[in-house]
Amino acid sequence: MSGLFLRNLLLLGLLALPAAAQPPGPTLVLHGGAGTITRQNMNAAQEKAYRQVLEQALHTGHRKLLEGGTAPEAVEATLRVLEDSPLFNAGRGAVFTHEGKNELDAAIMDGRTLRAGAVAGVTTIRNPITAARAVMEHSEHVLLTGRGAEAFARQQGLTLVPPAYFYTESRWQGLQQALKAEKARPDTPRKPKPPRPASRAIDGIFTEGRKFGTVGCVALDRYGNLAAGTSTGGMTNKRYGRVGDTPLIGAGTYADNATCAVSATGHGEYFIRSVVAYDIAALMAYRHLSVQQAAEEVVLKKLVERGGEGGVIALDAKGNIAMPFNSAGMYRGYIRPDGQWKVEIYKDQ
Ligand code: ASP
Repeated sequence: MSGLFLRNLLLLGLLALPAAAQPPGPTLVLHGGAGTITRQNMNAAQEKAYRQVLEQALHTGHRKLLEGGTAPEAVEATLRVLEDSPLFNAGRGAVFTHEGKNELDAAIMDGRTLRAGAVAGVTTIRNPITAARAVMEHSEHVLLTGRGAEAFARQQGLTLVPPAYFYTESRWQGLQQALKAEKARPDTPRKPKPPRPASRAIDGIFTEGRKFGTVGCVALDRYGNLAAGTSTGGMTNKRYGRVGDTPLIGAGTYADNATCAVSATGHGEYFIRSVVAYDIAALMAYRHLSVQQAAEEVVLKKLVERGGEGGVIALDAKGNIAMPFNSAGMYRGYIRPDGQWKVEIYKDQ
């Protein structure tokens, strides 16, 4: 039976799944980045603004699922809301490179088919997550970069914008601070770092008050399928065409119905070296850990030992959710099949 035929039967209510195989129902989890996000760093108006956009994104994606949309459709719809907001380091609010440009990365993966699509270093695509999904669905490739990715997006009829669309004053000031901090640093060869990095500039990349701000979403649709997506501007003051973990399948983004869907946020270099998203899935597959145990093992143990700051959201096909982070805070939220939802920011929530 074809997927589409089966979906139509399910939609029409003509086919009832046996009770044991009944998927838990639409579930969606999102993040808006991790880092030094504390009550002291945030005033009431800022907190309200972040919450509003996170809630809007959560309900947009969930509505898609309720209407019978697939997990990749819901992930894309959720992330487009966050990309269009200047508050998050993705799409509109992307951070600046050393050269004063915005270079965006995004990826999406379908847990049912294990197909994936990603773009990296794009400068004129308004919604990189949509481009990533187009790569997954309309190309034979997984990862397209720079001008090639933009030519593909144009061919696909996606919305292109002038690079100035991504200019926001706060991100520009973030770059100026980073450049100043870089200049003030003594130019001496660095000694090997202690395992836990100090909460300042690391590896020559200043992280703007150590807020990562990448956005991500994992979803479980009513057919029992998972998907994951992540979108980012990368890290402030990045250079040399640096690409982080976000668009790398297995590092910042991964989904497999058999294990889980994962989206990460944090200092990408550490997440790449630890193959974070796939490692969580592998711990579930090979050591039979739960999604919570697997996500905590990687984020709260392995990454901490290696000095990698950040967090993940993860979801399995039974609707179990994990949202561990080893930083002070992480913008995050979820909505369960019964409609119960929550948006959280700080650690003590
Ligand atoms: N992980 C992203 C990167 O390294 C940054 C972030 O999560 O904000 O590009």
